[in-house]
Amino acid sequence: MKSQYRVVVIGGGVVGSSVLYHLAKMGWKDVVMLERRRLASGSSWHAAGGVHTLNADPNMAALQAYTIDLLPKIEKESGQNIGFHMTGGLTLAGTPERWEWLQSNYRIFQSIGISDCELLTPEEAQKRCPIMSVDGVLGAMWADREGYIDTTGTVQAYAAAARKRGAEYYEDIKVDSLHQTSDGWIVKTTKGDIKCEHVVNAAGLWAKQVGRMAGIELPVSPLKHHYLVTDSIPEVANSDFEMPMTVDLEGFTYMRQDQNGVLVGIYEIDHEHWAMDGAPWDYGEELFKEQLHRIENELMLGFQRYPAIENVGIKTWVNGAFTFSPDGNPLVGPVPGKRGYWSACAVMAGFLQGGGVGKTLAEWMIDGEPETDAWSMDVARYGEYAENKRYIRETTGQFYSRRFVMSYPNEQLPAGRQMKMAPAHDAMTQAGCRWGVSWDLEVPLYFAPSDDFEEKLTLKRSNAHEIVAEECRAIREGVALLDITGFSRFEVTGENSQAWLNQIFATKLPAPGRARLGVMLSFSGRLKGDLTLLNWGDGTYWIMGSYYLRAWHMRWFNEQMKYGVSIRDLGDEICGFALIGPKSHSVLEKVAEEDVSNLSFMDCKRLDIGLVRSNVARISVTGETGFEINCKMGDHVALRRILLEAGADEDIREVGFNAMLSTRIEKSFGIWSAEFTQDRTPAMTAMDRWIDWEKTDFIGKAACIAERNGNGPEKIQVTIEIEDGDADASGYEPIWSEAGDMIGYVTSGAFGHTVKKSLAMALIEPASASVGTHVTVHVVGVERRAKVITPSPYDPQGVAMRI
Ligand SMILES: Cc1cc2nc3c(=O)[nH]c(=O)nc-3n(C[C@H](O)[C@H](O)[C@H](O)COP(=O)(O)OP(=O)(O)OC[C@H]3O[C@@H](n4cnc5c(N)ncnc54)[C@H](O)[C@@H]3O)c2cc1C
Repeated sequence: MKSQYRVVVIGGGVVGSSVLYHLAKMGWKDVVMLERRRLASGSSWHAAGGVHTLNADPNMAALQAYTIDLLPKIEKESGQNIGFHMTGGLTLAGTPERWEWLQSNYRIFQSIGISDCELLTPEEAQKRCPIMSVDGVLGAMWADREGYIDTTGTVQAYAAAARKRGAEYYEDIKVDSLHQTSDGWIVKTTKGDIKCEHVVNAAGLWAKQVGRMAGIELPVSPLKHHYLVTDSIPEVANSDFEMPMTVDLEGFTYMRQDQNGVLVGIYEIDHEHWAMDGAPWDYGEELFKEQLHRIENELMLGFQRYPAIENVGIKTWVNGAFTFSPDGNPLVGPVPGKRGYWSACAVMAGFLQGGGVGKTLAEWMIDGEPETDAWSMDVARYGEYAENKRYIRETTGQFYSRRFVMSYPNEQLPAGRQMKMAPAHDAMTQAGCRWGVSWDLEVPLYFAPSDDFEEKLTLKRSNAHEIVAEECRAIREGVALLDITGFSRFEVTGENSQAWLNQIFATKLPAPGRARLGVMLSFSGRLKGDLTLLNWGDGTYWIMGSYYLRAWHMRWFNEQMKYGVSIRDLGDEICGFALIGPKSHSVLEKVAEEDVSNLSFMDCKRLDIGLVRSNVARISVTGETGFEINCKMGDHVALRRILLEAGADEDIREVGFNAMLSTRIEKSFGIWSAEFTQDRTPAMTAMDRWIDWEKTDFIGKAACIAERNGNGPEKIQVTIEIEDGDADASGYEPIWSEAGDMIGYVTSGAFGHTVKKSLAMALIEPASASVGTHVTVHVVGVERRAKVITPSPYDPQGVAMRI
């Protein structure tokens, strides 16, 4: 072992080994992985080894597909057998809602390129898995790319392949502490110090402690998990094909063949955390005693599903631990505020996600950004709030217990809730507000007409549909009040702030007293932000955006920081309300302490509203006249009261974000995480119309110009109208040409209550993008006719927001 490397990877489990392999493969050879015992001696050795492409999150599904395709290549490259059995797999649906969900997901998988699936009747499913009883099964989905591998062999294969490419790894070396220097890290180990530029935390069950070595509290915790392996089952032994991987969602189990028996894994509803501060250092290749009292119910369902198990003995019980983040996705990428410290942990399913995690992290470290959109596993998707132990316990526990439980898009889950609330929260609750959550904050969804109103869970339009319709009417015809605490706000000051903003935004900066859409790009010319820039005229700028991106944007700002610039996240200090609708201007006039009659579209100024000092911007996300009134947290309650009183004569109505999302789609205004993502470009999303091509320079300019001079993107943004039904599109539904070819997919959808149409925004091939083109789209699995329409079906000239 040398005393200096470019990268030290801490942990020789499947994830660390994959990171090592990908770094070496992509050209960084001066890299070492340190393992405190033997390779795979954390969670990795006792995993069930199941692999599959299917994941409800399209980006995670793509990551898993990459991993599965990589596994045989690793085996070949390393010469190490990984015991890969590609059996194919079944996912069973045991309730009508689940069957609807599975049919819907089948279509979404098609959108994201997973085309090796098919829907089966229970009888067809039974033929493929003859030891299964299909009692209660309504349908199933088959996927070709499912199977299992030998876990220790796979870790060894990654590590051996990395070594063949010039990387090093050493066993029996424990990292004891980390010390940041001006140009990297000193890694203190049981066998001496190593100087390096980058450290990677791939410490699995010990990730928490390896985070703390650098002063980082990662939102991760281990939980225990059971599986059993049976003795030989005659039906299995005599079968001339292998049993497929089978996931029984309503039974909370997964099953695969293991020699002539089967392995049955259980996602226990009665979950149990273990070593929330990280596994003990003396913990090795050990297991916990099985806890039958926690799995009785699931076990019974398992025996009913696979009756043959009851006739044979159980050969092995495994009750082991592995790690989870609050949403179950990995924590990957540069840790904000710790230069050269990279996270590759909380990888719940290291064998099916580890390849993708390794690739993503290596690209990030070497190229500065991953090839695909890594948001769903980015460590910066969480903020400081997620360091809270109770938050971690509640959310990871909730995720674990609900691993196979059906989720609905309109469902609100209880873990980690009511953490941060805007000051007017209680008053709004009294007024009927129903809350959702964004990051740590409760955000208003809509206002229910009575306390006993209960929104039914559904994949389709819910019984809150008419309430949202009323709220949209207030926005379009009267005046509405929306709590906008759930926006992010950053303050930029300093002598070089203008030059810096000019560099990080591809758009023109607003003049004093004006606001402007700010498009931010990465160095490769892909989207990094759809923000609003406000110039308060006194040398202070604000950047406003999506609240849940606060830590993510702040990391980027800090990475690009220059001398003479200061940036502050105002998210915990400033909140506010938006006053929206044709009557909003006259309501504002009543309470503003100066004349606001000439406050034009995209103007911004500091204003006294009654007794509240505020920063007001005339901005519209809904396409209607609207004012975003920002105030200090302490003034939120007063501001609400002032505006509600002033608007009483106009029947002012409080509204939530569901109404905002409906009205914005009627204007074809894109939003982040739907139309705008990190793997899309300005030309794909029509954001290029805002770019200031005359600017001397800005981040991403060269790539943008190359795109402008090229052949054009493969897909472009359009608005479509879907023939009416009982559900609206939500995202990733496939779009088909009349000839039956898949030509694109939905980026977001909603019912447009003013235009009374089911609308969606979509990315489709340019040849099919002209207005009037007839297409079809699968919404909740059902094929519906649709057509491309002129963008902004409501008020296409944009008159209403400028009046
Ligand atoms: C019962 C069970 C069944 C599972 N089934 C599946 C499955 O079917 N499919 C699937 O994909 N996943 C499955 N998993 C999950 C899978 O095991 C994990 O996702 C995976 O092992 C995580 O790998 P890792 O490399 O992140 O962590 P680990 O395997 O925990 O590796 C971390 C390594 O870091 C080392 N280390 C820690 N700290 C230090 C230090 N300071 N210095 C040096 N070395 C250090 C440890 O010794 C360890 O070897 C299962 C898990 C369990 C418990």
